[in-house]
Amino acid sequence: MSRLVMKFGGTSVGDVERIARVARIVAAERKAGRGIAVVVSAMSGETDRLVGLARAAAGEGGNGAVIAGKEFDDEYDVIVSSGEQVTTGLLAIALRRIGVPARSWQNWQIPIRSDATHSKARIDSISESALGPAMDAGEVAIIPGFQAIGPDNRETTLGRGGSDTSAVAVAAALGAERCDIYTDVDGVYTTDPRIVAKAQRLEKISYEEMLEMASLGAKVLQTRSVELAFAQRVPVRVLSSFVEPGQPNPGTLVCSEEEIVEKQVVSGVAYSRDEAKVTLLGVEDHPGVAAEIFGRLAEASINVDMIVQSEARQPGRQNILFTCPDREAPRAAETIEAAKGKIGVEEIHIRRDVAKVSVIGIGMRSQVGVARTMFAALAQKGINIEAIATSEIKISVLIDAAYTELAVRALHTAYGLDAA
Ligand code: ADP
Ligand code: ASP
Ligand code: MG
Repeated sequence: MSRLVMKFGGTSVGDVERIARVARIVAAERKAGRGIAVVVSAMSGETDRLVGLARAAAGEGGNGAVIAGKEFDDEYDVIVSSGEQVTTGLLAIALRRIGVPARSWQNWQIPIRSDATHSKARIDSISESALGPAMDAGEVAIIPGFQAIGPDNRETTLGRGGSDTSAVAVAAALGAERCDIYTDVDGVYTTDPRIVAKAQRLEKISYEEMLEMASLGAKVLQTRSVELAFAQRVPVRVLSSFVEPGQPNPGTLVCSEEEIVEKQVVSGVAYSRDEAKVTLLGVEDHPGVAAEIFGRLAEASINVDMIVQSEARQPGRQNILFTCPDREAPRAAETIEAAKGKIGVEEIHIRRDVAKVSVIGIGMRSQVGVARTMFAALAQKGINIEAIATSEIKISVLIDAAYTELAVRALHTAYGLDAA
């Protein structure tokens, strides 16, 4: 018996006509000896609407993703997880209408268990003891993505975009041959095809590169889903949900590096506007200061990314610059302010209109001059670099957010990624 997991994102299930097409795609994958599980997202716009309701009930303005305090986050999860449940029922009906046996499974019926971290929970276990045999008997199992139940039997959610992670986790638990992620683009591109018309679809991309691409801003797959696929060696294919069954739909295979014959120096360009820069001027320069600053930020669950330290003009002082997600910047500044006595910082500045642009490629490991190409391309467009971070397979720069698209396009051209 083989098993296949298919996942459909929000736009792909955006209305009942699209859900009917999803049903046709699922039906076409059925064959004797293969069990199918389908993981679905909420209909497009639905999660945003539910987040808005939760925030309004909590008396919060704006439309950020998470309720700020811990006071209501348990109920936030109850509210925002409801969107996916609706889609499971709608798809089950659509499948049965075309003669395919199907049923919805809610997370507690499987169960899919997670830790207790509301709004960004991690899946602990998925039982296949009820689900697996039902699928193997030919009934398509439809599962809501993005959610689980916590240790106290309460609803949890996995963070925005979390249905990808649900799908990969289900595939791993079921020992599926592959996890197919159907979305509104026909694969993983060299960069976001919405901002670079000349972006090209990749036939294959390694787990390592996809992990960097996702964590550096390419939202086509949630970062955690790639981590999980990498760790569990689940082959993942990204493909279009808008193609009728029977038509060509090759997509992109996310797979191990060994399966990629021609390793590109740079395979992709990613960007993130969800960045803020915090600059600390005149910090005391002695052992333990960095530990104090970054220890406190970690305790406050603030995700620090780039860090640059330099000598200040005054003797015995240094300047430290770091980046964090935009919405965490005010809290980061407060946290540092509270530590002022210990670290002796003279000035704290926050800049929120910055963006991070990154180039990613496994071929970088064995190639020189990759950074030079990047810096020269940006210089030619007059774009100033405010911070740099590198790893074995990526280079990231922090720039003024106003130049994000210009920078992404310039780099895409500079590394020869533009389609003819
Ligand atoms: P879904 O609702 O199916 O989960 P998402 O909106 O989360 O879909 O992800 C798909 C989107 O990711 C695309 O519409 C595209 O704009 C964006 N994207 C960003 N970077 C890339 C990339 N490198 N390749 C493909 N899509 C990308
Ligand atoms: N519906 C959730 C969201 O919009 C999860 C997902 O679509 O992956 O974030
Ligand atoms: Mg998504």
